[in-house]
Amino acid sequence: MLLEIEGLNSHYGRIHALKSANLTVREGELVALVGANGAGKTTLLRTLSGVHPASSGVIKFDGRDITRLNPVRRVAEGVIQVPEGRQLFGPQTVEDNLRLGAFRRGSGTPDADLERLYELFPVLRVKRDQPAGTLSGGQQQIVALGRALMAKPRLLLLDEPSMGLAPLLVAEIFEAVQRLKREGVTILLVEQNAHAALSIADRGYVIETGEIVLSDTGPALLSNERVRQAYLGL
Ligand code: ATP
Repeated sequence: MLLEIEGLNSHYGRIHALKSANLTVREGELVALVGANGAGKTTLLRTLSGVHPASSGVIKFDGRDITRLNPVRRVAEGVIQVPEGRQLFGPQTVEDNLRLGAFRRGSGTPDADLERLYELFPVLRVKRDQPAGTLSGGQQQIVALGRALMAKPRLLLLDEPSMGLAPLLVAEIFEAVQRLKREGVTILLVEQNAHAALSIADRGYVIETGEIVLSDTGPALLSNERVRQAYLGL
């Protein structure tokens, strides 16, 4: 097991935003965490990456307790988050943004990695010299994924990659996520778009008002009556 979250609680003042969450991710797995706006998905990711403190509970990464490690140390362990809203350096070129992703490794210019990335996402090669801020929303999301990949994540945390994108671009982003999985990247995907996320996930979790209420394989959750009614509008 690569990631084991046990009894994790998180608060914002008196708001109990994450309630005794249990969640696991195996090496190579694509796991989706779905839920409505405000359910606690981002809180779980922020607690996992260490930018928000856990009130109690344990986060184990590769068998090691990382619950009290600071965010920088977690990144060094290979826990890499692609934040909601992407946060690229708009005036910098696509390629500069991608190279920044490799910064944590401190091993000079990783041309071979960049070449592999361009093969995986040809659109990045086409746009390499353009300022990242001039790309479409979907393309910027792919730059953000590429930048995270340059950091050689052991666990990639994706926060609502489909947020604010037109349906055609949403399909493109989920195709890109699947491509990452095929490359062997382990992924925890947080999404409001339950249908798209569960369609590509090996396993999924459903979170409601801070509590994980269901967990199963992606296909089983897609055909679960409660999920169909509450999240798929069926
Ligand atoms: P979204 O899709 O909007 O990101 P979410 O499922 O990620 O939703 P969270 O952002 O984790 O939900 O929010 C969980 C709960 O914690 C909500 O009730 C929210 O209002 C509250 N919350 C989140 N951030 C803060 C904060 N900085 N201060 C106080 N309350 C917060």
